[in-house]
Amino acid sequence: MKDFLKKINKLKPIFLDIINLGGIPYLVGGSVRDFVLAKDVKDIDIEIHKISLKELEGILKKFGHVRFVGKKFGVLRIDGIDVDWSLPRRDSIGRKPKVKIDPNISIKDALHRRDLTINAMAIDLSKVLDKDFKKNIIDPFGGLKDIKDKKLRAVDKSFFIQDPLRLFRVMQFLARFEMQPDRVLDNICKKISLKDSVTGKKISRERIFDEIKKLLLKSKKPSLGFGWLRKIGRLKDIFPELYDLIGVKQKKIYHPEGDVFEHTMQTIDVAASLDLVNLDLYKDENEKFLIILSLLCHDLGKPETTDESLSAKGHEKLGVAVAKKLLKRITRDKILIASVCKLVLYHMRPVQLLEGKAKSSAYKRLAIKLEPQVNMRQLGIVTLIDKLGRKPKAVIKEETIKRKQEVLNNRLVDKKYFREFEIFLSKVKNLKIESGSEKPVLLGRDILDLVKPGPQMGEILKLAYKIQIEEGVKDKEALKKRVLR
Ligand code: ATP
Repeated sequence: MKDFLKKINKLKPIFLDIINLGGIPYLVGGSVRDFVLAKDVKDIDIEIHKISLKELEGILKKFGHVRFVGKKFGVLRIDGIDVDWSLPRRDSIGRKPKVKIDPNISIKDALHRRDLTINAMAIDLSKVLDKDFKKNIIDPFGGLKDIKDKKLRAVDKSFFIQDPLRLFRVMQFLARFEMQPDRVLDNICKKISLKDSVTGKKISRERIFDEIKKLLLKSKKPSLGFGWLRKIGRLKDIFPELYDLIGVKQKKIYHPEGDVFEHTMQTIDVAASLDLVNLDLYKDENEKFLIILSLLCHDLGKPETTDESLSAKGHEKLGVAVAKKLLKRITRDKILIASVCKLVLYHMRPVQLLEGKAKSSAYKRLAIKLEPQVNMRQLGIVTLIDKLGRKPKAVIKEETIKRKQEVLNNRLVDKKYFREFEIFLSKVKNLKIESGSEKPVLLGRDILDLVKPGPQMGEILKLAYKIQIEEGVKDKEALKKRVLR
């Protein structure tokens, strides 16, 4: 919060220039919401009323190099200053809504085009520069009360349905802020078409992906978003692969939590909430996202492979194709898709290696298979969380029910899983294959005097690498002797 106020204070000279020219700078959008919620305000959006785009550009230019980031919608940025400057827009409602910049509309009319009441508030910065921000919130649609009541409400029903992305926005906001959409919003989202009301085109993958990323990274309980889709009857058409997990039974001794859907949801919640960054497990946010997404997909092969005895042999292999199908609908990022698929394909291996007391060579072979997209540490984390997401519902409600013994037992089970993970991690650390496979000792240049580059050399080097991995021979000369024998 202090950082945010400092940032705003730094912008004061710009605000004063705007005010001197007759303009009014308003803080708008998510920044006002986050300020009220006392959350970190990341993006600052300023909407300037009563001056033209040219005039705004002229002022901003005095403070640095100005770029238009959305020429059509008049969004400007000054290089080095992390703030979006824009002019109010009027969106007409109708079959073909047009977006028009209009500096002279009222702040209420300008806020009307925003999706949810919690995002449709503003602060008149010309009035509050030295005063209390909180007392000066402009809130024409009741966003403050909705925040207090933990309610999500559409600003305008008929406007809301025009952009299908808003369904995904509701999904991520309700999980992030643990708020409930009201009945009207639920009903809108039940029916909202996933095609753009004007162009008839499907909503772009990139826009959906951004919201899914926010859901998985910014919420401590992303399962709430999927649970809500299920509740309003949209899980089946939006994520059929997840819908298919509902009712797929699992063996009680391994999965006291219930069906595969419940298990999957628990794993993504653990991955999203466990403070793995501080435990020094997640390298960064991208890695955290990769792991949560992989857990979302890890058991997608179970509906097809679960037999009467409730074993699901080969689900990890079959799950790869299902995961691809889901992922391709939300992203074009081929590297991300390939990375998730690798983690899905091998998510059972760490436990199999540990339980089978496998030789080092088996660990090394697995590290090779994971390359180039992912590594053993990431796979270990997926496996750990796969285990942690198995709590009977009664234990999840521990705080309210306080079934001490059950909770205690579970903690012990958790401890066991962490211990297993540590053993796995120390093994891969010792083998130096934590973040990549063992590098080949014998290289082409080492045998150039004996073999010309070509297929034969390739064969020899392959053999040398095999001996190195399988037998642990790491001496160059010894390897050379063995392969040339
Ligand atoms: P976040 O913290 O997730 O970035 P945000 O609300 O700031 O939240 P943005 O996508 O940056 O999210 O949007 C900024 C503001 O623009 C929103 O608060 C909302 O008022 C408005 N907005 C964004 N997308 C839409 C949309 N599809 N329909 C209506 N209003 C929208």
